[in-house]
Amino acid sequence: MYSLSAADLELQARARAFADELIPHEQTAEENGGRLPEALARAHHERALELGLYATNVPAAAGGRGCTALQQVLVQEQAGRVTNALGWCMHTPPSWWPEVANDLQRERWLLPTVRGEMQECYAITEEGAGSDVSGIRATARRDGEHYVLDGEKWHVTSYNEAAYAFFQAVLTEGPNAGQQAMFVVELPSPGVRVVRVPAYSHTIGHEHPIVAFDGVRVPATHLVGGEADGMRFAYEWFRFERLMVAARCLGAAERLVEEATRFARERTVQGSPLIERQLVAAMLADSATELFAARAMTYETARSVDEGADRKLLHGRCSMVKLFASEMANRVADRAVQVFGGRGYMRENVAERFYRELRVERIWEGASEVQQLIVADQLGKRGLEALVC
Ligand SMILES: Cc1cc2nc3c(=O)[nH]c(=O)nc-3n(C[C@H](O)[C@H](O)[C@H](O)COP(=O)(O)OP(=O)(O)OC[C@H]3O[C@@H](n4cnc5c(N)ncnc54)[C@H](O)[C@@H]3O)c2cc1C
Repeated sequence: MYSLSAADLELQARARAFADELIPHEQTAEENGGRLPEALARAHHERALELGLYATNVPAAAGGRGCTALQQVLVQEQAGRVTNALGWCMHTPPSWWPEVANDLQRERWLLPTVRGEMQECYAITEEGAGSDVSGIRATARRDGEHYVLDGEKWHVTSYNEAAYAFFQAVLTEGPNAGQQAMFVVELPSPGVRVVRVPAYSHTIGHEHPIVAFDGVRVPATHLVGGEADGMRFAYEWFRFERLMVAARCLGAAERLVEEATRFARERTVQGSPLIERQLVAAMLADSATELFAARAMTYETARSVDEGADRKLLHGRCSMVKLFASEMANRVADRAVQVFGGRGYMRENVAERFYRELRVERIWEGASEVQQLIVADQLGKRGLEALVC
């Protein structure tokens, strides 16, 4: 099915077996604020590295696994089968970085990140700028051989795990004044301060604090690429991550359909298995059908990445799959809670956890409405043929 090669199937099976090792620890994570005992979390991290499921998106020349986009999707799909973000140990560092990293960045952060020795976080969103990245107010001012960074960033995922942050800011002066630039800020650094750590719907070990950057001085070598490149990296990241969000949503939906179907087979209501109740059967059938459609779309889009399709076309397609797969997974989670009944409302139930966890997939990396606008924009500019033919 899906014309996967022998290598694809082997990688998929390896990732699936690893996800199956992680699943039994979900409940412990849920009961402990999303965290596993440190030794266990470290063991999962080491195992992901050992199994070749880490940095699948980074070219082999930069020490990564150099997998095809389709293979990356297959791995992230399995990561998505696991709740509480335990699958995030199959980490994908920034794949756009090797091409533009200077020697310092490569040795100090990029290569150790790809080897799994440290992790990054992204500080782009602000209180007044989320969907519209062009509205950020954080600033970068050149001062001799340094830049001085100021701003407050919201939802900085994995800050508590990170050795450094990518910080996006608007240049205040010089030939590129008004353009967005990206910098690496080592953590901790003088002037970097956690304002607060809000609680979110999901229960995961990765925090999303609000972080203030007050007069943070970084050497000019911490500028990533050129001064006007910030948005280029953001778009590159969006294309990649939207496809991976879709992949993880496929995995979540598959697990939900499987678990809800198993329950519906075993649960007896008024003398017969729940699955024989047509209203319940319809929910399961719709879920399986939508999963099939989303998977076909996502694999096809990954294949077009591998075939070197035009970037603009991919931008639209990645938006389509992110939109459809994230909305699909949320519908599936909602139905799964319903099929499980009261059990589906208990935190010890996989459907309850996914019901909370999947909600953000419709918001981060561009909310569904933003994806709709991108798709509509491509439709207007390039026509239907460019998107779906
Ligand atoms: C758990 C979590 C983790 C995150 N991690 C990170 C991170 O690590 N780094 C980072 O930089 N950011 C991160 N984010 C931020 C995330 O990318 C933004 O929340 C998202 O892009 C939406 O921005 P916003 O919250 O400011 O919503 P807004 O931009 O205020 O939008 C609110 C809503 O309005 C609608 N909307 C917005 N624009 C339009 C439009 N043009 N037309 C129609 N409707 C529109 C959408 O429904 C949207 O959800 C994270 C967010 C969450 C919740």
